[in-house]
Amino acid sequence: MRDDVKKLLSLQETDQSIQSLQAELEKIPQLQEAAKAQLANDTAAVAQAKADFQANEVEIKNLELDIGTRKNSVDRLKNQQFETKKNEEYTKLGEEVIRYEEQIDELETRELELMEIADERRQQMAEAEAALAKTQSFVDQEIADLAARATQREAELAESQKTREEKVGAIDDEELIDTYTRLFNKREGNAIVQVTEQKSCKSCHVQVTPATYALAQSGAAISHCDNCGAILFP
Ligand SMILES: [Zn+2]
Repeated sequence: MRDDVKKLLSLQETDQSIQSLQAELEKIPQLQEAAKAQLANDTAAVAQAKADFQANEVEIKNLELDIGTRKNSVDRLKNQQFETKKNEEYTKLGEEVIRYEEQIDELETRELELMEIADERRQQMAEAEAALAKTQSFVDQEIADLAARATQREAELAESQKTREEKVGAIDDEELIDTYTRLFNKREGNAIVQVTEQKSCKSCHVQVTPATYALAQSGAAISHCDNCGAILFP
């Protein structure tokens, strides 16, 4: 292989690493966002459990108000009963007291049911919060791992960029470097490729002419693929 092509091939290897490191670094913030998105369901479940508990609490409060109102009515009726001199009115007031006391009984039974529901919902809330905390710790770990990976890749990238400068410095043909750079970008990292024994270019997979193949073999000059322009080596 020609010395300049050998140097370019080595530069290409470094450029390929740089390219893949950059691609990986670009993806890391997206992966961190995706990790955070895992919290959405658990966060929503906690909010729902809290809302359910709260709604039940409101119902209990309202029930207590209703019970209180009826208890006041019973007190009032009992006072009236105490003060009345009329037998008929006394009986009528007594009946009303019974009616209110029956309502109070029903409301108190309902209140006990709601208190049992409150216990269940408190439990559900605690479970949802525990699930969220568990997911949160996984997510925190994942984000921290990704951050550590980014730091490591950045160091590798800096190292590769240094290596690249050295390799470019060792090639004293500006025009050749320009050609290489243009090809590297155009051929998605496959600027310097082997031409197979079947005369196929490994960048575009098209067969080259016998003359191009012979030139790549001899190394008398730089040989380019007839189709894609990639620099060929045997
Ligand atoms: Zn080609």
